[in-house]
Amino acid sequence: MKITSVETKVLVWPPLDPPFWMSLLPVNQPHELVALVHTDEGLTGIGHSDQIPGIFSVGSDGEPRLANASRIVPGAIAPLLTGKDPLQVESLWREVFGLTYRHNWKAEGWSRSDMLSALAAVDMALWDLKGKAAGQPVYRLLGGTDPAVPMYVAGGYYREGKGLAELAAECAQYRDHGYTGLKMRVGGMSLDEDVERARVVRESVGPDVRLMLDANEAYDAEAAIAAAARYEELDIFWFEEPVAWYEGNDGLRRVSESIKIPLAGGEQAATHWEAESMARDSGVTYMEFDCTRTGGPTEWLRVADACRRLGLQMAPHHGAHIHAHLVAAASNGLMVEAFPDPFMYGSPEELEFVRWDRKRELFSVHPDVRDGLMWLSDRAGWGIGLDEEVVGRREVRE
Ligand SMILES: [Mg+2]
Repeated sequence: MKITSVETKVLVWPPLDPPFWMSLLPVNQPHELVALVHTDEGLTGIGHSDQIPGIFSVGSDGEPRLANASRIVPGAIAPLLTGKDPLQVESLWREVFGLTYRHNWKAEGWSRSDMLSALAAVDMALWDLKGKAAGQPVYRLLGGTDPAVPMYVAGGYYREGKGLAELAAECAQYRDHGYTGLKMRVGGMSLDEDVERARVVRESVGPDVRLMLDANEAYDAEAAIAAAARYEELDIFWFEEPVAWYEGNDGLRRVSESIKIPLAGGEQAATHWEAESMARDSGVTYMEFDCTRTGGPTEWLRVADACRRLGLQMAPHHGAHIHAHLVAAASNGLMVEAFPDPFMYGSPEELEFVRWDRKRELFSVHPDVRDGLMWLSDRAGWGIGLDEEVVGRREVRE
């Protein structure tokens, strides 16, 4: 089998109105880079990445346009892949990754992180092809046996007008839909207010739901230690990204040695080298490496292997429909993240509860979510198919 072409599509959703907030930052205009790897045997691999803001810009008329990073795949990656055997995933990965450090890599003005995100989309498409060529879902190709993967909800975001009553109602709704794990934001308000928010959520979901706190790096180590002392009595499953970016693994290590709640982190690690350093040096217990943001599934498997040796469990950030295959196959795979918040990509009035991710509208074929589990299908590859109507509606053209 040979790769005949690599096609890309840049999709942009309307701006979120009103925006919702992580601990320190608003969530910006959703976008997606889709990579389609075509072959001479008629199979097409599908991949995508949603953390590559450099692919589009918004003009003075408010309309999105293609920007510099949208040329990474057609300009640099496609020529490396065309004519090659798509099943040689490891060697193709190394060739594409080489773009991030070989001679003159900055000449086009692309950032390393944008290049690693483009690699993620392409590598994902190659794994889709690997599964399709073998007639197997990826999780089974990797040795996994159980198609039901535990999910937890990322919710409890900050939003104007959202008080304690709304927060409690939101979180009870997740529990009522069968989710047994829930993550909420902290660090965006005063500690007293955040402790009160967490207490209200714990009371609303009861003692049997795993409750995680995500600070999005809002504290320094000292403040994180003081905050954890207050959160501890609420039976917190993990404390995610508790310290500011500049304190790095040393700051995390200080926190992990001073508090009882286990730490989670790694959603921003760019490579398996960075993730492995964190796993070894920071005291983190749960690794959240996100292969839809950077590096692709090939890189995720390296991270999972390093973490297995170091005794960490894998709980990847975002991209549940992809990460569920990898978690199902990894001996240290724990759970994947769902975004069922109906407020996320539309107005609350017109939206119903979303089972997994608002962006599932992109897929006409996708895994089912029931009882807090993602059920992977027998379909080959990732088991996803694009909804051409949605793609046509969201695609940005030159
Ligand atoms: Mg997070």
